[in-house]
Amino acid sequence: MDSRRRVTSILAAVASTTVAWALLVVSGAGALAAAAAAAPKKVVAVGAESQYASVISQVGGRYVSVDAVMRNPNTDPHEFEANASVVALVSRAQLVVQNGMGYDTFMNKIEGANRRPGRLVVVAQDLLRMKSSAFNPHLWYDPKTMPLVAEAVATDLSKLQPAHASYFRANEKHFVASLQPWTRELAQFKSKYKGTPVAVTEPVADYMLQAAGADIKTPKSLQLAVMNGTDPSPQDVSAEYALIRRHQVKVFLYNRQVTDTLTAGFLAAAKKSHVPVVALYETMPVPGYNYQSWMQAETEALQRAVATGKSTEEL
Ligand SMILES: [Zn+2]
Repeated sequence: MDSRRRVTSILAAVASTTVAWALLVVSGAGALAAAAAAAPKKVVAVGAESQYASVISQVGGRYVSVDAVMRNPNTDPHEFEANASVVALVSRAQLVVQNGMGYDTFMNKIEGANRRPGRLVVVAQDLLRMKSSAFNPHLWYDPKTMPLVAEAVATDLSKLQPAHASYFRANEKHFVASLQPWTRELAQFKSKYKGTPVAVTEPVADYMLQAAGADIKTPKSLQLAVMNGTDPSPQDVSAEYALIRRHQVKVFLYNRQVTDTLTAGFLAAAKKSHVPVVALYETMPVPGYNYQSWMQAETEALQRAVATGKSTEEL
């Protein structure tokens, strides 16, 4: 019986007796305190990005308390700087999930400076055996990533709470199964629209676009410059404008979280040239999304843009 039901039944039993009211209050309060002491201890967990926190929360269920460090869909994660409250959050975590790939290096710094015996850290980069030098750090858009993360999270939660191992495994299975509508849509897009030329501003969704069979026409050097906030070459800038204005791409995918006057110029050109726009996010859009519904919404927006020319400028 879980603690809440136990409290309810104790209170019900007490209430059904004919003891004096004062006695009833005293015994009721005592029962509540005893039940609170027996409540299951939750694993304190942190996702460096809200999408990893979403997976922890789905696998850990009622036995985890999860926070996310980067969760504001209106800020640029590439420019994130940890403050004291982030340090406190990460320091007390028993389980951490982070991306790696130089995307959330501040996590390593905090973990190194605030050692906690027994802290378990899952790094998506390690699970995928990716090189840090790889072009695209946004691993969560790759459909291969989260099943591995969910498995690692279930394993680590089982180490922290062995009594609930089968519960964590069942949640992991359920989570992986719930990715199927998304991966099915990717496969459908690929079978229907393989080789569709698209333009992007930044590599955020490139793994998803590759899984969908899209042909990303934007020069990698331009994507890198936007991601890193450096100056792109004039050739790259005119190449991107040409893709849009000459309708050499079917969709313009726009990273809403990594923007500047350059990306605003591309967006304006896409609208003026009637190239459908799809908004992309680095961290989960809020409210109302979990990881899989977010990925599915992005894929559906891509499909809609290609099939009907309709833009999705915000999720
Ligand atoms: Zn990015």
